[in-house]
Amino acid sequence: MNTTMSSLSPVRQTAIISAIAALLSVMLTAAAYLLFFGMDNRFWPAINMSLMIPWVITIPLGFYMSKQRFHLVCLTNRLKETQTKLRTANKVLEQRVNVDGMTGLLSRDSFLSQLDQLRAAEASSVLMIVDVDHFKNINDNFGHPIGDQALMLLGKIFRKTLRRNDLVGRIGGEEFGIFLPATSAPEGQIIGEIIRHEIENTIFEPYQNMRHVITVSIGVTDIVPCQQRAAMLGNADTALFTAKRRGRNQVVLFEPGMRAKPRPVHDNVQDYRPALPHSNFR
Ligand code: GH3
Ligand code: MG
Ligand code: MG
Repeated sequence: MNTTMSSLSPVRQTAIISAIAALLSVMLTAAAYLLFFGMDNRFWPAINMSLMIPWVITIPLGFYMSKQRFHLVCLTNRLKETQTKLRTANKVLEQRVNVDGMTGLLSRDSFLSQLDQLRAAEASSVLMIVDVDHFKNINDNFGHPIGDQALMLLGKIFRKTLRRNDLVGRIGGEEFGIFLPATSAPEGQIIGEIIRHEIENTIFEPYQNMRHVITVSIGVTDIVPCQQRAAMLGNADTALFTAKRRGRNQVVLFEPGMRAKPRPVHDNVQDYRPALPHSNFR
């Protein structure tokens, strides 16, 4: 009953309340009049009067209710607007946390957590770490904004080359993680080679009429079910370190017994064999 009444407009609510009040007023007045005075010639004027009284009260009440309802509608609309704004802001925040703003690839945290979820369901899958060779030289020779453009270009190449179900994220400054579900180690090595080849053969023009060859080193490892995340990343990193040591611009599959990257890294740059010339101008 309450819900039915509140769904009606204030005018209708007022009319219904007034009608009920008028009916009650007439019945009570008639009963009281007959009880105290009996039927006489003032009975009908008294009944007419009793009909009027409820309207005198309910009409101003109706106006008041209309005003209140209008305020309520305004408040509800404002609340809805705020909710929509909050939902949009939440989506933007979620997007910022999950997506790397520069390349549009997954952020490090998002990549690693999705990797953990997906690898559990895979009997055979592959993890790769892709690191740009001598990226510091791109920054030093052409400036940071051009370095950023190179990273964006790599993002495009990954999206173009990889399959829909593959995961790719930016896990460091110029380092990318790739997870290939339902893939064996030899297949992973071939896909790594395709990526490496695609990057090497994509023209990067830092400035007009200037071409620069970007190359990457890739460490590949197959993922053993139930393996710890740190061990899996460590294997891919060891393979990447080997690729760098062997001269860069190559794909290396992890093998047990491979020399792991010494820590701290910055003290051991001499471990890398001199490879590509400092600037890869074409
Ligand atoms: P290597 O072949 O051994 O990997 O050499 P490298 O120069 O690529 O490696 P290093 O770790 O010495 O340098 C990586 C550089 O990447 C250093 C850092 O300034 C740069 N870098 C990290 N994040 C960004 C970024 O978002 N934009 C740009 N432009 N540069 C970045
Ligand atoms: Mg690098
Ligand atoms: Mg690096």
